Amino acid sequence: MTINDVFPKDLLRGKTVFVTGGGSGINLGIAKNFAAVGASLAICGRTQERLDGAAAELRALGASVFAEAADVRDYAALEGVMQRAKATLGPIHVLVCGAAGNFPATAEAITPNGFKAVVEIDLLGSFHAARAAFPQLNETRGSIIFISAGQAFQAYPYQAHVGAAKAGVDMLMKDLAVDWGKYGIRANSIAPGPIDDTEGMRRLAPAEGAKAKLAAAVPLRRLGTVDDIGAVAVFLASPLASYVTGTVLVADGGQNLLGSGLWAAIAMGGGPSDSPRR
Ligand code: NAP
Repeated sequence: MTINDVFPKDLLRGKTVFVTGGGSGINLGIAKNFAAVGASLAICGRTQERLDGAAAELRALGASVFAEAADVRDYAALEGVMQRAKATLGPIHVLVCGAAGNFPATAEAITPNGFKAVVEIDLLGSFHAARAAFPQLNETRGSIIFISAGQAFQAYPYQAHVGAAKAGVDMLMKDLAVDWGKYGIRANSIAPGPIDDTEGMRRLAPAEGAKAKLAAAVPLRRLGTVDDIGAVAVFLASPLASYVTGTVLVADGGQNLLGSGLWAAIAMGGGPSDSPRR
């Protein structure tokens, strides 16, 4: 099943979707699903070459595309890119805050700079994007979709930095839903579960054979796909979700229901029991 089996090809025709971190993985998958329902796409990330490749894939789907490098930690750069995207494609109707960094590290080993980098990209970067897009979202009565993670609401070994950052993202989302509701702007988060063939999975599930074991441990008995998350994003941006704001939509096949210890034991080949005891 593809998105066009459910949503018409012109559902979001004439609308502009801006995706931070849109050059790869889940975020590119989200961008492709928006392209399939007629939206124009603006994408940013740190690597122009990666963005150019993603832009070519989106154009092949028929989308008008604007792709320019910007680090989400640099507010002025992001603001400039958003203004140039507007000049090319028109004002932003949907902002997807997907740029993020991740690596497994114990809290006793991670450097303060490593922790800070993740919080700056995930949390501060999401605020920068929302703040810079505000004038355009105010004009369109648009909506924001933050890409969160299970780490935001469940403690995971080796993920203190990500948990802190993504929990902050979800609280920011709720506060913006309250503060910007009066402008007709909606804000929601998607918390993806383990998504196959992504950088996140490659980094967080390095143990040999982990993928098949993790899939077997998900209640729906499979890993997610980028299209699973893209479809949820299109729904949240669509008129069908016009009364949905301030919510975290968990799309993880039920993975979180079994707890993070099981995940860690399979994915990392260790888990909570590998910590030193006295
Ligand atoms: P990914 O392909 O590495 O996506 C991250 C993107 O963000 C990259 O395109 C990267 O491009 C960009 N980025 C990183 N730092 C940036 C910065 N400072 N400024 C601008 N762009 C930046 O990883 P992914 O696994 O698909 O993850 C995508 C999102 O889904 C993330 O928010 C992640 O937390 C979330 N998520 C993933 C999973 C999973 O299973 N993979 C599960 C739950 C949540 P450059 O390096 O070129 O900048």
